[in-house]
Parts: sequence; C-alpha cells; structure tokens
Amino acid sequence: MPLSIDKRRDRPTTQWVYTFGNGQAEGHAGMKSLLGGKGANLAEMSRLGLPVPPGFTITEEVCTYYEDHGRSYPEALKAQVANGLDFLGRLTGRTFGDTENPLLVSVRSGSRASMPGMMDSVLNIGLNDVTVAGLAKWAGDERFAYDTYVRFIAKYSNVVLNVERHHFEEILDEYKHRKGYTLDTNMTAQDWKAILPRYKQVVEEAEKFFPQEPQEQLWGAIRSVFGSWMNDRAIKYRELNAIPASWGTAVNVQAMVFGNMGETSGTGVAFTRSPATGEKVLYSEFQINAQGEDLVAGTHTPQHNTEDARLASGSDKPSMEGVMPDAYKELLRNCGILEEHYRDMQDIEFTVQKGKLWMLQTRNGERSAKAAVRIAVELATEGLITKNEAITRVEPAALDQLLHLTIDPQAERKILATGLPASPGAAAGEIVFNSDDAEAAKEAGHRVILVRAETSPEDLHGMHAAEGILTMRGGITSHAAVVARGMGKPCVSGAGSIRVDYAAQTLTVAGQILNKGDIITIDGSNGQVLLGQVRMLEPALSDEFDTLMGWADTVRSIKVRANADTPLDANTARNFGAEGIGLCRTEHMFFEGDRIVAVREMMLSGDETGRRAALAKLLPMQRKDFVELFTIMSGLPVTIRLLDPPLHEFLPHSDDEFEEVAKGMNGSVGKLKQRARELHEVNPMLGFRGCRLAVVYPEIAEMQARAIFEAAVEAGRKTGQRVVPEIMVPLVITKAELDLVKERIVAMAEAVAEETGVKVEYQVGTMIELPRAALRAGEIAESAEFFSFGTNDLTQTTLGISRDDAASFLGRYMQKGLLPTDPFITIDQDGVGELVKLAVERGKKTRGNIKLGICGEHGGDPASIHFCQAVGLDYVSCSPYRVTIARLAAAQAALQQRAEKLADVPAF
Ligand code: PEP
Ligand code: MG
Repeated sequence: MPLSIDKRRDRPTTQWVYTFGNGQAEGHAGMKSLLGGKGANLAEMSRLGLPVPPGFTITEEVCTYYEDHGRSYPEALKAQVANGLDFLGRLTGRTFGDTENPLLVSVRSGSRASMPGMMDSVLNIGLNDVTVAGLAKWAGDERFAYDTYVRFIAKYSNVVLNVERHHFEEILDEYKHRKGYTLDTNMTAQDWKAILPRYKQVVEEAEKFFPQEPQEQLWGAIRSVFGSWMNDRAIKYRELNAIPASWGTAVNVQAMVFGNMGETSGTGVAFTRSPATGEKVLYSEFQINAQGEDLVAGTHTPQHNTEDARLASGSDKPSMEGVMPDAYKELLRNCGILEEHYRDMQDIEFTVQKGKLWMLQTRNGERSAKAAVRIAVELATEGLITKNEAITRVEPAALDQLLHLTIDPQAERKILATGLPASPGAAAGEIVFNSDDAEAAKEAGHRVILVRAETSPEDLHGMHAAEGILTMRGGITSHAAVVARGMGKPCVSGAGSIRVDYAAQTLTVAGQILNKGDIITIDGSNGQVLLGQVRMLEPALSDEFDTLMGWADTVRSIKVRANADTPLDANTARNFGAEGIGLCRTEHMFFEGDRIVAVREMMLSGDETGRRAALAKLLPMQRKDFVELFTIMSGLPVTIRLLDPPLHEFLPHSDDEFEEVAKGMNGSVGKLKQRARELHEVNPMLGFRGCRLAVVYPEIAEMQARAIFEAAVEAGRKTGQRVVPEIMVPLVITKAELDLVKERIVAMAEAVAEETGVKVEYQVGTMIELPRAALRAGEIAESAEFFSFGTNDLTQTTLGISRDDAASFLGRYMQKGLLPTDPFITIDQDGVGELVKLAVERGKKTRGNIKLGICGEHGGDPASIHFCQAVGLDYVSCSPYRVTIARLAAAQAALQQRAEKLADVPAF
C-alpha cells in the first residue's frame, strides 16, 4: 500500500487513486492486484503513448475497505477523487459539472480477475438539465446531446437506482410507434426532448431520486460499482471460478469519448489474432455511430473492420477501413505495439470520435485450445516469446478439446441433466438401455448412446458399440468412467437426476420421458446431457500442436506412460506419444466373451484342481494378449499388474450366466449360487482382491507369470527387441506378502527359461496403494524393484471415501471448503500426498535406484503431475487420451521446478 505525505496534516495517507493520461500514468501493468486488470492496462497503454482518454483508478483496496467499514469510504478518498477530476479537467480542457463546457466521465468496474459482464458500469456521468445544453454546443449537435442524456437517465436509474429497464423501453417503443418510426436514428432532438419528462416521471413513480448534481451522480455510480462486487451474479461467478471475495474490484473513472457522434465516429472490439483458430489476422467488429455498450449488447449488427472481410461476407455496410482509413491504420499500428509489448494476443476495445481513435481497453485475449497452441508456437517462432514460454502458454487440460469431438460453442444446448465429466468429448445418438441393443443398433448402422444405471464388465461390447455412455450412478472412477476413458469414448457418469426404467425402456428426467430411440447428446467434458443432436466440431491436430509437444518433450524429466489393457489402448497410447505402459490391469483383459466365463469358473470352483482347469483355459488367451502388447510397445517398458478384481464385478448375476458357468464346469447351478453367496462382499473394494488372491490361490499368479514370460520370449523373437516386463503385485501391505508372490514369479521365470532356452530379464515391483504399504515402504523396497503409486485406492483408504460413492456428497464438501479440490482428480496433498512423499523417502533409502511411478487417475491430472515432479517420481501413467495432457503438464512442471531452483539461489 503506497504511502504519501498529507502535507496539511503532516502524516502519511494511503494512495487510493492513481491517474493516467497524456503519455503518463501513476500505475502500470504490473499493478493488477491493486488497480484491477482494466486499470493496470489503461495505465500501461498510457505510458506507451497510446491515445487513452485520461482517467483515474480507485484501487481494489477501497472496495475491501468499503465492505469492511459498513459501506463507507476511507477519509482521504474524497479529496483524492477531487484531485483526479482536476487532473482530467486539465488534460481535456473541460470541467466536471461546468454548464458551458462540461466534462463527462464513465465509471467502470475492473478487478484483477476477468469477470465479464458481472459488475456494473455507467457512462455519460455529469449530464443534467443544464449541462446537456453545454454538450450540445460542444458537439455542435443537439440531437446527439439529448439522445445521450435520455439514455443516461435510463441507464443510471436502472444500474444505480434499481428502476426496471423495461419502463423506459416501453416509453420509447410507444413513442416511436406513434410517430411511425422504425429506428432510434429516426428520433430527432425534439423527439428526445419530448420524451425526457416521461423518463423522469418513471423515476419519480418508482419513488427514486435522479440526481441533477454531477458530484452526486459520480458518487452514486462509484457506490454502485463497488456494491456490484457483492451482487448475486458476481458472488456466483466467483464461486465457480475460485476468485476470492477479498480481492474486490477497482473503479475506473475516465473522460468520455463518444462513438455516437455521427458517421465519422464508431466503436469496436478487436483481437490481434483469431481467438478461434489463432491465425494472425485482425479479428474484429465495429459499429459506426454507436457507443461501446451497443456492440456488446448485440443490439446492432456489427460491421467489418477491413474491406477484405466486408467483401468476403458480401456486406453492403461500410467497413472501418473504408470510412475512416486513418483511424483504422492507427488501430492496426496500436495492435502491433500492444502485442509486442504484452507478448501475447490482445483483446482490445476502442472508440473513434469524429475520426480520432481512442483506446479503451486491452487484455490478453481468451482463446480456444486450438488458437492457444497456434498462437504460442507462432509467437515463439516470431521471436516474441521463448519456446519455454510457449510451453507454459497452453493449459494442458484444454488439449482435451483438440483430441475429441466437441460441442460447437455457438450451438444451442437444451440441458436435460448434469452428471460428472467422466470421459471427455461429445457424442450423440439414439438411446439404448442395454448392451445387446447397442450392438444390434450399431450393426444396423445406427449411432447409439448406452444409458445404464451403472455399467459392469458385461457391458463392454455395448460400450464398444456405443458412441458414448451415460450412467445414473457412479463417480469418475466407476467402471463406466474408467473403461470409457480407456476407450476414448465420451462418458457422463452419476447423472443422479435421471431415472432409468429398463422394463419400460424409458429415461425420465426433469419431468420428461424419453424412449428408446430418442436422440440425446452427452458432453463428457462438462457432464451435460442434452436433448437432441447438438452440432459438433471435429478434432484436428495441427502442425503447431506437434511442434509444441516436441518442445515439451525436450524439457520434461518425468516420463509419460499409459494405462492400457488392450492392443487398441496400447496403439492409441503410442500414437499419443506414450513411453510405455505403466499399468496393464489384467482383470480388464478378462471382461469379454468366453474369458469372463473362464474367470467365473476359476472364482467359483471350490478346489485347486477346478481352478487350475479354468486357468488352463485362460493361459493361452493371456499369453496372446501379452504378445500383442509387447509387440506394440516394442522397445518400451510394460508394467503388467497381476490380477486385482473386485469380486462383485466378476461374479455372475443372472440365471443365464450361472448356467453358462455351470456348463463349462460340469457343475450344478445350485452349488455355484451357494459359492457366489459365500464370496459376496459387503465392501468389495476392501475385500478379497489384489495380492490376497495370489497369496491364497498362488496358481493364479503362476498362470499369469507364465503367460508373461512366454509372451516375452515370443514377442522378443518376433520383434528382435528385448522385452523387459515389469511385473506388479497389487494391494500389498507387507513385504512378506510380496515375497510369497515374488517367489512364485521367480520360480516361473526359471521354469520358462528352462523350457524355452531364453532367459527373460524382468523386474518385480509393487503398487503402493494402501496407507500401510506407504508406511512400510522401507521394508517393501527390499523386495520391490519399483513402486507404482495407486492413488485411486490410496485416496479411498486414506480419506475413507469410496470413489464410486463420492459423487453423492463430494461436491457439497468442496463447496463448504472442507476439501480444497476433488481428491479423486487432484492428489490430496495433506493426506495422500504425505504418504506418497514418505514412501518415496523410505523406498529410496532402502534402494537408491528404485523406479517410482504413479498409475492412479491422478497420473493424468496436471496439478498432480506438478506434485509428482516435486516429490521426484520417474514417470506418470495415465489413460491413453490423457497422454498429451500429461506430456505438456510434465514439461510445465519441470520448467516451474527449474524456475523455483533459480529463485532459491541467493543473490550476491
Ligand atoms: C489405484 O488404486 O490407483 C489403481 C491404479 O488401481 P485400480 O484403480 O485398478 O484399483
Ligand atoms: Mg488399486
């Protein structure tokens, strides 16, 4: 808080007001957290010598003071504002409140975070029954002055006095109708004068007082802008965008310039590059004889800036270039200056008053992901920024937009329900309620959305056939979500407000009943379920994308692997640049067709002989899968996790399924059902799964180890590349447990070497996915050659929140601030993060070169990747469609770490 000496009282006072104009400014672009974005950039533009109408910014601190002190102002503010008005008077040669030569001002909000349209702004302050004549004289245009005055009364009364706008609109419409006018421009000075008393009457009837005194108008507007920081809209927007209420907004008071002074005046917005594609062309709209608000409100059809754009669109309305070539040339020049100065694409607002250009705002422009990539790469190739800066200019999560179909932002969305954004991308199709129907419809050439209460392994073929998946229950790590992400299919899960009635084949939502065959669209990037077929945009990967990813790959230190269980996953992952497989969930390889029957036989057989018989059926299938994975990933590491099935996902449910298993085993359905009841678990996530299965039934681990080693030999022969499998034991809590399983693996390696004559090099490691494992990591590392942090289970078990059930309350938890972020998306640093750190330290202490990775869903989350970099993991593993996101995030994490290290070096 800068202090200055108040000469009269000889004690320091705070500077609450910062002036700008005439090539100078007290503030600058680096002062956004005091002056807000608009104020800081107006100051900067003024320093750059650009034509900015002079003004002053009242700091964000005043807003905070105002809220904290019963809506009153600091004592020194009045005098500082008065000085500010004097400053404007000196620069403009006009005086606020003067009857002959009145200065008019705008009062606009502007916080350090962009909050478009959320807060108030009022223009033309200073107009009253007397100054309006002065304005008419100055402009040489009575019509302009009265038009401006009448509109000011309506705007001020609406924004500051809360008089509803429609009262004024009705008067104007009725007047025009009576006169036979169609446009506002038909209104003459006399017409505006005639309407004036009726506007004033509306205010009186609302029992409000429209102040004639300019000072009162000004302070009313300032109060209104500060007050709008706490309006419902702004509060909601801040909540959604995590903007603290304590920041406050600044207020910018600026000399008015008029875009509505006839055919040589106008107002416009311009992006220095296309915010849609990133192309380096001026992307702008312009409106002759209008004020800024007319353009923003969309009440006028904008005109083109360039002649080329006008001709291309076939518009007969003149372009800015055509009617005011000098102002246009100056605008182009200013765009160049601003882009070079800010080293980024700018979003600019300007006004032309009688041929003279004025710059009203500049800021870094919002842009699509596609544009972000292109702009970053082109700015770097133009030499405006470095390659490393280009890497930091693109939000990794936004890359999702580039890899999937997305809903056209211009398209209308009729939202039926909102669930969880479980797997990104948009998809549309006919509703089907079961997987067989999905498959049949697909074969008949239809596109379908599979709608289920929840999905299970039986739905795999339906999920394959569907364009997208919608479930009523389940979180973002539910079966539907995990499998859909692996397949790269859009999925909305946990849409709790829909009701699925399988018998009636209907979906009920918000009082509407949809039938099988009705069309819906789902947006897996934001969780929306939409009625009908909504227009979409195709994904397109550009050359710039490849360039940026290439730059990212050279700076990152963390490797990026994929969680992949099928050849399709593995191929997709390689195409996206994965450097190996970090997690192959072998239970996922058993979901399909006759495999699930064999798995069920294995699980339900009461003795080892029965299990071995079932395992013998599975062995060739597993071996074939592994050969394919090793071949696709040739030369890259592949981590295969031994079986970790939550039993309920694999047990048969329907009578048909029981019969099928009974047939395969030559057993009785009754006995099988009895065995299934015995295996029923109240909480399968904490049940008989992971290595517990291998400890109790070692023959399962043996079969899998055999399949892995035999496949490694075969794939090695096929590709000529050495295959070094990493065998991972899940859900370990003690070293002894790992040792028991490891013993079997080692024995199997030796057996296969003997049989084939080929010794396969391999590693045995474990997942650290239970708190006890993290605590015992020091001992476990004696046997484990690598750790892979299973942060899905580690999060559930550390926080005591089931990942599938979290959907019902986690949102409210975060709203109440009980958890800062969704711990199933971003690593919970206070619990899970601590355990990971501890396990890393203890693991490394025992085995200095232990390989460390993460394969929970967090491996594809940019914020979690920063954490992984900080604790020193070697790689992250994520679903194939997140690989590019992870590559970019890892590069950003490496750059941030470098910057932090540099900042740590003491200066001499
Ligand atoms: C984990 O727990 O983080 C993990 C990767 O295993 P799964 O999600 O298969 O339980
Ligand atoms: Mg797990």
